[in-house]
Amino acid sequence: MGLFDSHVHLDDSRFDGDREELISSLSEDDIDYVVNIGADLQTSKNSIELSEKYSFVYATVGVHPHEVKSMTEDDIDLLRELSTHDKVVAIGEIGLDYYYDNSPRELQKKWFIRQIELANECNLPIVIHSRDAAQDTYDILEQHNRSSRLLIHCFSQSLEMAKKYVNMGAFIALGGAITFKNAKHLLDVAKFIPMEHLLLETDCPYLTPEPFRGKRNDPSKVRFVAQKIAELKNIDFTEVVDRTNYNARMFYGI
Ligand SMILES: [Zn+2]
Repeated sequence: MGLFDSHVHLDDSRFDGDREELISSLSEDDIDYVVNIGADLQTSKNSIELSEKYSFVYATVGVHPHEVKSMTEDDIDLLRELSTHDKVVAIGEIGLDYYYDNSPRELQKKWFIRQIELANECNLPIVIHSRDAAQDTYDILEQHNRSSRLLIHCFSQSLEMAKKYVNMGAFIALGGAITFKNAKHLLDVAKFIPMEHLLLETDCPYLTPEPFRGKRNDPSKVRFVAQKIAELKNIDFTEVVDRTNYNARMFYGI
């Protein structure tokens, strides 16, 4: 079994120069699957387009908290329509971001809830973005999610929150941040997360792991996240690869 990169943005303009070449070479890097994540209507459509071109690329559709300031109910209808596509495997990335506050917090909450309801209605899992908004994110999910599987992407919260999400049955994805030198508390989080709740991701082109930090990230670098987890948990690299691949296919229903 190969690696499963559960969160990529290969439609980002930083890949414009070599997108096809890069995606075509991923199997040589032992990448089995990638899920390209929508962050607004346009990138949701871009994700679907990529998934139509490559059998091992899947897509999500959703509006990121940065982009909800101008969201309308028509956008929910559009997302509902897009979500019926064969290769769409989740609603996301949706959530709350109080670090940048690019959209007013009240609107962030409103459209987070509305998109959770949409995922429930469409029987799709949810990919969650949460930054500096741990308690509100948790409370909203607890109150409003009825039936969707949950994935907290690029987990950066406390150990205590990780425990609460595991109790809730959520999956947690770790990325390049666990390889950073200032990532102390995340190391404890990584050690804690039970293997059956863990996914790997790059969030490329962002969050490039060491030893490539500062360069553009891409799915081939997800192996450095797997290596770090194997080291922290003192288990085989192949066990990390196999189990996270299995979990990601379970979560996304692939
Ligand atoms: Zn992302």
